[in-house]
Amino acid sequence: MRFLASLKYDGEPPRTKTEASFLIDGRKAGRDSAKLEKDLDRLRQKTQREWFKRERDYCRMEVRQARDSEGMIAGFRIRVGRRCDAAKQYHGAFVPIQVALKHPQVLPPYEGICQHWACECEIEEVLESDRLATDTPMVVKPGRITTIRKWRRNRHPFLTLLALAVLAYCIYHLVKT
Ligand SMILES: [Zn+2]
Repeated sequence: MRFLASLKYDGEPPRTKTEASFLIDGRKAGRDSAKLEKDLDRLRQKTQREWFKRERDYCRMEVRQARDSEGMIAGFRIRVGRRCDAAKQYHGAFVPIQVALKHPQVLPPYEGICQHWACECEIEEVLESDRLATDTPMVVKPGRITTIRKWRRNRHPFLTLLALAVLAYCIYHLVKT
């Protein structure tokens, strides 16, 4: 930054090496500091757009590969980077493969949050054989997070009722005889 100041650039500081060399080259070529700052902004937006698309595509590919794994992969676990705090509701959450296919936006990068120069968000595969704790948060749809335990309970209300009915019937017979 001191080097840039010596080149008489007093605009927005660079965040990456690419941005720094863009500014240095611009100043060396004698370009106006204010105009350079505007171009920096344009460069930033372009880099961000390209990065976002690339990361999203990569994520989609992982999801598709998981779908084709014939049941080997159950889904993904999200690690939200420390500078993407606005998405921290998803941190540590499990995303089943069906949810990831239907709502790709629940996986990083998060629109309007993850920035190419700061994002450290990651996803990890969860195998069908992995045993997650039942209090693990689980994404059901965008912005809706429950736990594995609650989800299982809601998923099989009929089976639960049936089991209770059978139990009640057995007890009734035991008491009667
Ligand atoms: Zn991020």
